[in-house]
Amino acid sequence: MTLDLSTLRADTPACANLAHFNNAGASLMPMPVYTAMTVHLAREQAVGGYEAQDEAAVAMADFYDAFAAMLNCDPLEIAFMESATRAWDAVFYALPLEPGDRVLVHRSTYSSNYLALLQLAQRKGLEIDLVPSDLHGQIDLDALPGLVRDSTKLILLTHCPSQSGLIQPAAAVGRFAKAHGLLYLLDACQSAGQMPLDVQAIGCDALTGTGRKFLRGPRGTGFLYMRRDLAEQLEPAMVDMQGAEWLAPDRYRLADGARRFETWERNVAGQIGLARAVRYALDVGLDAMAARVQTLAADLRTQLAAIPTVTVHDPGVQKSGIVTFSKSGVYVGAAKQTLRAQNINVSTVPQGSARLDMQERALPDMIRASVHAYNNAHDLARLVKAVRAL
Ligand SMILES: *Cc1c(COP(=O)(O)O)cnc(C)c1O
Repeated sequence: MTLDLSTLRADTPACANLAHFNNAGASLMPMPVYTAMTVHLAREQAVGGYEAQDEAAVAMADFYDAFAAMLNCDPLEIAFMESATRAWDAVFYALPLEPGDRVLVHRSTYSSNYLALLQLAQRKGLEIDLVPSDLHGQIDLDALPGLVRDSTKLILLTHCPSQSGLIQPAAAVGRFAKAHGLLYLLDACQSAGQMPLDVQAIGCDALTGTGRKFLRGPRGTGFLYMRRDLAEQLEPAMVDMQGAEWLAPDRYRLADGARRFETWERNVAGQIGLARAVRYALDVGLDAMAARVQTLAADLRTQLAAIPTVTVHDPGVQKSGIVTFSKSGVYVGAAKQTLRAQNINVSTVPQGSARLDMQERALPDMIRASVHAYNNAHDLARLVKAVRAL
């Protein structure tokens, strides 16, 4: 399958003069997403928020069907969340972990996830086992079995770290987790919308992601997948009248599947917009998307590495659309501003955003340029020229 670049760019009006390489921060919403949201906001203004929501019942319900189609699961295994972090926390804080339980985690894990792990480890007396990296910088699959003890309960993995171009071998970790009876929570924040994700093939128990990154949905939205039988064994850390039904003064019943983790109030336009974004990604085709993103990122790495003072830092056997690099003598914060003034968007990766990973790899602060399928060779040339001039 090949994707239609001219349609992708026509759907992304800012492409005309903006070279946007911050798709791992927040991508540009395609027109169908923007339109679905603004149409809904107009209805909220015209008829009222609750009334507009009633009218939008079909579009809202499609959120669950669209994600179920994208992830190969049941719609009841999907929950709408306000962010990927809240989705991840909903799972993590509900797991029945006890003092002395051990958690396996790789250094590339996302900062907020690791902060939550540190908090619960300190509060509950959990033990954290850091899994080493292999020669390619990915989670060392050969080291994993030797780290498992009777008290090991859980493995946490970030599929595509936000601070590097690594793609972790998520399905191999799923086979390992299954073989050892471990719960497996996958942070797919950077992979969702960038590549196909099949939760059955990956073998994770729960998977979390956000709307605004490679899925090209709106800000302030996220999603949770949780295997239904696991969800129905868990008590959410917090409940409300969406996640639970008040049956009698002293009794409540939790909602089925992953829905028990939802809260009642929500950004309705956001839910509609994210559902539309998933449909858009499915229409483009996630295999074609992954192929184009990986080709563009590989091109960009080659071109940047050809600049003598630039070092590209991405580890991994297979690499994502995230390109990280530094240039000697160049302060990354200033570089970002200089590029921004030329209508080229990148972001930066400071040490505090990925301490374990960046310490292990002895990395400087980095510039992050994340490509999406709508980027073209001209965008790349603009960025490379501007980096050379820094
Ligand atoms: C951005 C990001 C998150 C957090 O997503 P939010 O929607 O901001 O909560 C989690 N994990 C990874 C890998 C990310 O890149």
